[in-house]
Amino acid sequence: MTTSLPLVFEAPRRGKPPRHWLDLDPGERRDVVGKLGLPRFRADQISRHVVDHLSTEPQTWSDLPAPIRSDLAEQLFPSLLEQVTRRTTDAGTTVKTLWRLHDGSLLESVLMRYPSRTTLCISSQAGCGMACPFCATGQGGLQRNLSQAEITIQALAANQMIASGEVPGATGRLNNIVFMGMGEPLANYNAVMGAIRTLTTPSPEGFGMSARGITVSTVGLVPRIRSLTEEDLPLTLAVSLHAPDDELRDELVPVNNRWNVAEVVDAAWEYARVTKRRVSIEYAMMRDINDSVARANLLADVLKKRGDWGWVHVNLIPLNPTPGSKWTASRKSDEKAFVDTLARRGVPVTLRDTRGSDIDGACGQLAANNRPRPEAATDEP
Ligand code: SAH
Repeated sequence: MTTSLPLVFEAPRRGKPPRHWLDLDPGERRDVVGKLGLPRFRADQISRHVVDHLSTEPQTWSDLPAPIRSDLAEQLFPSLLEQVTRRTTDAGTTVKTLWRLHDGSLLESVLMRYPSRTTLCISSQAGCGMACPFCATGQGGLQRNLSQAEITIQALAANQMIASGEVPGATGRLNNIVFMGMGEPLANYNAVMGAIRTLTTPSPEGFGMSARGITVSTVGLVPRIRSLTEEDLPLTLAVSLHAPDDELRDELVPVNNRWNVAEVVDAAWEYARVTKRRVSIEYAMMRDINDSVARANLLADVLKKRGDWGWVHVNLIPLNPTPGSKWTASRKSDEKAFVDTLARRGVPVTLRDTRGSDIDGACGQLAANNRPRPEAATDEP
């Protein structure tokens, strides 16, 4: 059987974004400051404006000479994200922002305030090339990879929003970032890892977040899971399994044709073994597709093969139906039977909430709905 693989590792370079301070590592920042004619130590001063004061407007940095401020603004602080719309729900504690990038590409991020934490769901690509048929982003294909700065700045913008007091109850900084917005983070590996380094390095070089608060979610690109394992960072790895058997997973997550269930679960297990971090197995519950008790038992079998339950946790996601798709959420009774079966087998399991679903902000719904739809591309009235 020949299968056409949707896997796109090298995204089109169309619309490469302008260089930004947040694309640079600390050494590169010092070099670039030197080239502007400043002593290299000034790099930390500039970074403090960004990471401590959340400012990306050099014109306001009065501790720097005016001509240098203009040079910085022009050469290293281009505007990367322009807000198109913002929608809120849950009494203002869930905020979805649609951003336009410099080349017109659109992306979305979702901020969620919980009693004990504030989480941002961010995008790693404009669109996605993985083509999972139940996911809204997957339907539109991949536009391009985001740059390191375009990824990092989503977190900066969220921190600005928190600091401005716009999100009720949220104080301080983001505690959690989940790479569960648009895109496949491990298909844009270098930019994602660069962003993670900037987010987790202490000030003045980075934002000083805990790596434990960052979750990277993947369809299961096995070689890249191995690379992530070698980074030896205490990140949380989430694997979108959605089916315990290859026959069904080939359909739900097309990249399974390349790396199958056994290979993906082995790579996830190895990640847990090396990093000592519990892996999250994502499983979107789809009515009459993957939600039978038989599959719950099969899932337990597949995960159990890799030793005791300490390494894994199953996160069931009620499917958020996307417009025009044949996939829909499981019945409550089937959901319960699935959870009970896993629990009886000893599998650590939780059912995720569907925050933001009413503003198309829940998992798998991020699709930048403002983009022209294919039917709008015809000349017909
Ligand atoms: N590409 C990455 C991250 C993006 S999506 C990945 O696939 O893991 C984050 C999670 O939302 C994934 O588990 C994805 O399968 C799930 N998801 C996608 N569409 C969904 C939908 N319509 N309802 C519920 N979850 C969905």
